[in-house]
Amino acid sequence: MFPAIAIDGPAASGKSTVARIVAEKLGYTFINTGAMYRAMTWYVLSRGISPADTQAVIALLPEAPLEFGKKGAVSIVLYNGRELTDELTGTEVNSNVSAIAAIPEVRELLVNRQREYNTREAVVMEGRDIGTVVFPSTPFKYFVTASEEVRQARRAAQGQQDSIAERDRKDSSRAASPLTQAPDARLIDTSDLTIDQVVAMIVDDIRTKTALL
Ligand code: C5P
Repeated sequence: MFPAIAIDGPAASGKSTVARIVAEKLGYTFINTGAMYRAMTWYVLSRGISPADTQAVIALLPEAPLEFGKKGAVSIVLYNGRELTDELTGTEVNSNVSAIAAIPEVRELLVNRQREYNTREAVVMEGRDIGTVVFPSTPFKYFVTASEEVRQARRAAQGQQDSIAERDRKDSSRAASPLTQAPDARLIDTSDLTIDQVVAMIVDDIRTKTALL
């Protein structure tokens, strides 16, 4: 059994940056699950299918030529062997990903791929349902958040058009694996903390818990 570190939280909470550095410090693989939902959304849109047409989206899943791999110690998504990057953060993907991620069949497929990574190696995985659904029994769970103003400002600084409040509302209210803090997750509000401070809190907590296991 390899360790799995679960880092969940709302959009633009800083969890990706933090998770990536925590993974580097521990020598674990960093897995960005949002990129997997984004890739599926990009693929659905590129095929001219409406994300609202759930049956058409489900029909597309078995033939989607997407692969979930790694580059170094970081997860990547490949489409017909080509790595997807900028495609994943376009405005169209930002505004449709919550609809695609609400489809249980999409989640089942991607959750299976996410768990597969951890059959081979230790992972730091970030998303919305990692502590609640993907790895419910891991002792390492963190729920990273920040005030809405801080999160809006962070996204704007990245030059992205992204209605994060709308995305959070959809992600929190969906029936399938909604965004929610696992009861046993440690809550970290990053509004007034630096990235280094958040990373140190998580790494210290993991080391303390690991020593006690
Ligand atoms: O983390 P990121 O903002 O890239 O995630 C994009 C979207 O993917 C989220 O708004 C959510 O709809 C979906 N997602 C999810 N479950 C995850 C990760 C992402 O539903 N574990």
